[in-house]
Amino acid sequence: MSELLRIENLHVTAGEKELLHGINLTVNEGEIHVIMGTNGAGKSTLMHSIMGNPSYNVTEGSIVFCGEDITEMDVDERAKLGLFLSFQNPLAVPGITVENFLRTAKTTIRGEQQRLFPFKRKLQQQMRELDMNAEYAERYLNDGFSGGERKKNEILQMKMLNPKLAMLDETDSGLDVDAVRVVSKNVSEFHTESNSLIIITHHNQILQYLRPDIVHVLMDGRLVKTGPASLIDEIEARGFEHFRSEATV
Ligand code: ADP
Ligand code: MG
Repeated sequence: MSELLRIENLHVTAGEKELLHGINLTVNEGEIHVIMGTNGAGKSTLMHSIMGNPSYNVTEGSIVFCGEDITEMDVDERAKLGLFLSFQNPLAVPGITVENFLRTAKTTIRGEQQRLFPFKRKLQQQMRELDMNAEYAERYLNDGFSGGERKKNEILQMKMLNPKLAMLDETDSGLDVDAVRVVSKNVSEFHTESNSLIIITHHNQILQYLRPDIVHVLMDGRLVKTGPASLIDEIEARGFEHFRSEATV
């Protein structure tokens, strides 16, 4: 199994504050990783750092993706290499429709113009799979979208951009049971032997549809525990606090 992402000794600051204190994480092709942890542990910070969000500074350590050191690369370059991050609170972008946004994003990432009609057909098909009304393609991005529609739109982006590594940050939060099922099914169908996922979640609902290979617990900016899918049951039963005392770091 070949290595897709390797993070070594990653230290990240925002402003004056160090938020991540030496993260080590390797994701191989085909794997599903789940990151769980208390609120404010640094889960979103880790995803943003992998994606290259300029609000976060890497002060030590490295991120290698597809064999390339991406630690200093900007977001666009990382996206072109096949990284994708869904946002916990996607911004409304007035004036740009869902379809135009996706077509532009895909054109940028692929480096070639996306032909209109094949693109439209593909988009409509993907939207049907997500139980999204066809008219959403013509709506302005996230403008007046309900919480559930935003989340589905994130998954639509993932499906259309087809990244090698998709990072989903609480994509299942705030969805009704039917929407969780649809989203989970789409994520599960997206996953193949040759792409990977890092999923941040507080719920085990999504995990009924997706079997993670590896589960990590992040607390206070450190990965304190890594284990198999059964770790989720341990978290459900015992909470997070005991991991702090078990941590060897
Ligand atoms: P999680 O996603 O695990 O709930 P976050 O990664 O969002 O946690 O945040 C981790 C900590 O870092 C929190 O204390 C948060 O307030 C802080 N933090 C996150 N982003 C920034 C930022 N851009 N500037 C300053 N502090 C931040
Ligand atoms: Mg978060």
